[in-house]
Amino acid sequence: MSLAHGRPYLAIPGPSVMPDRVLQAMHRAAPNIYEGALVDMVAGMVPDLARVARTEGNVAIYIANGHGAWEAALANTVAPGEKVLVCATGRFGHGWAEMGEAMGIEIELLDFGRKTPIDAQAVKEALEADGAQAIKAVLAVHVDTSSSLRSDIAEIRRALDETGHPALLMADCIASLGCDVFEMDLWGADVTVTGSQKGLMVPPGLAFLFFSERAAEVRRAMPRVSRYWDWAPRADPAFFYQYFGGTAPTHHLYGLRAALDMIHEEGLEAIWARHATLARAIWAAAEVWGEGGPLTLNVAEPRHRSHAVTALRLGTPHGARLREWTDRQAGVTLGIGLGMSEEGDPDGRGFFRFGHMGHVNAHMVLGLLGTVEAGLSALGIPHGRGGVAAAAEVIAGSEPRRG
Ligand SMILES: *Cc1c(COP(=O)(O)O)cnc(C)c1O
Repeated sequence: MSLAHGRPYLAIPGPSVMPDRVLQAMHRAAPNIYEGALVDMVAGMVPDLARVARTEGNVAIYIANGHGAWEAALANTVAPGEKVLVCATGRFGHGWAEMGEAMGIEIELLDFGRKTPIDAQAVKEALEADGAQAIKAVLAVHVDTSSSLRSDIAEIRRALDETGHPALLMADCIASLGCDVFEMDLWGADVTVTGSQKGLMVPPGLAFLFFSERAAEVRRAMPRVSRYWDWAPRADPAFFYQYFGGTAPTHHLYGLRAALDMIHEEGLEAIWARHATLARAIWAAAEVWGEGGPLTLNVAEPRHRSHAVTALRLGTPHGARLREWTDRQAGVTLGIGLGMSEEGDPDGRGFFRFGHMGHVNAHMVLGLLGTVEAGLSALGIPHGRGGVAAAAEVIAGSEPRRG
């Protein structure tokens, strides 16, 4: 017997759950892309998008996924042969470095492993060692979705300011925007990259770049920027065709309009608080389970954990078996371990992840945790009793009770 029939829950860290309101907004006939309602809608939408990143800077929208956003950020600011400093706390930091390498950019890599966030002191030392100021940008992933580590972008800004180094600060907020607190202007990021399919609750296919005046100046001094990635023609939605480098992503834009309405109706602070509480509920359950078995949270320190995604380790063969069980028996799809190879487990099959970004509420998280607890029991995987009860206590607003 399978208990999976009913509404499925894709609890992977992107693409995330899409609200019915977003889907319904997309369900319509093709609009005119040259004038009229769609053009007006986008012009009005850009400031609402910028508010999610907490910036008064520039916005560029691409038909692309997160990898496109990575490439766009570099294509506008760093020429082949120039250098960037990449801070890696998991697979996505390395991925951005590989993207730069493929573009002929020289990479200096600071690898912080998969357990600890970016150490701003190490960034400062790398900048101090760069006497010629050859480093053109510091690339930092705010939340690395593979490890679920969250790093402190404001601290990296301080490292740049204290050394007086002119490098741009670029933040990958693909996983974190609209989930974890992020303040682009206050924290001093020059470029922020994100995508539509995580905290923004829209299908994959839109990439967003937010950039400061300083970054725009660096762009203007570039010898050449490839046409599609050039952000300059994308700065004015009045020129609609150029704005999207061709045909507009019409239906994604309707979906995005609906998602931004939802975000601003709830309020960004309330969204951050919701994600924080749901994340604490997940940690509470995981900590109880771990008291009686092999389950561990990948990030030991709560203040370094993302509120959008949680990476957990069960070891082999339990991790893969649990994912298989929740999918087949309960209609809940968990995220795979990504870039989490370890000795005896080259594919990271002992790891799994919960995506809790965007359109996620208390009953979904309690359902997710209840399903995992059932799976642990069904598969005979040792675990502490009472994980879901501990999560329910967090949801109820009190500290989790033990024992
Ligand atoms: C999802 C993600 C990416 C990659 O985005 P794609 O849309 O898969 O290209 C990059 N960085 C982070 C932090 C992500 O979470």
